[in-house]
Amino acid sequence: MLFIRFHGCPLACPWCDEPLHRDPAARREMLAEQLLQAVRRLHPRLPYLLLTGGEPLAVPRLAELVDFFKQQGFWQAMETSGVGGPIPEGVDWLTLSPKTKLAEAIYQRANEVKYVIGPSPSPRLRAEILQRAELHPNVWVQPRSGAEGNRQGQAIINPQAVAACLQLIDEAAGTIRLSLQLHKWLNLP
Ligand code: SF4
Repeated sequence: MLFIRFHGCPLACPWCDEPLHRDPAARREMLAEQLLQAVRRLHPRLPYLLLTGGEPLAVPRLAELVDFFKQQGFWQAMETSGVGGPIPEGVDWLTLSPKTKLAEAIYQRANEVKYVIGPSPSPRLRAEILQRAELHPNVWVQPRSGAEGNRQGQAIINPQAVAACLQLIDEAAGTIRLSLQLHKWLNLP
């Protein structure tokens, strides 16, 4: 799967692990055709894309871009905080990673809900995750890694964040799953 990282995000999580999405020097404007050519250059036959960021929902005319890639035969996943415009219909797999209060409808649309967990999640967040695990069949927790870890292409694992994840999984009797950002462990960009 090839990641398309969009520049910019309406939120400003202090622990964001993708600092380049705020760096003006990292921003490149591309037409859809140019983006397609860049994807083909990297992987001539790869059929899987992940639209992420930054925040893909904040991209103007996102639905047109999704339709464009769909016409080219791509299967498209999207990872979003849920803040921005509507979810394009053509998205095949939606990972919702909530950072703020969201409408219930977007949880219903999501194929999976992923919570990023620091060393000491608040009681409110813990309660929300446990409740969500009762409502949604596919809930994940992921220990937070620092921005520095992402720049180096490596996971910097915080053992306390891992422990907080495992405790939630235990409390939910295994109905929550653990996500470990394997691309960082495998040192993929
Ligand atoms: S929502 Fe995601 S991309 Fe946006 S600031 Fe938070 S962690 Fe970073």
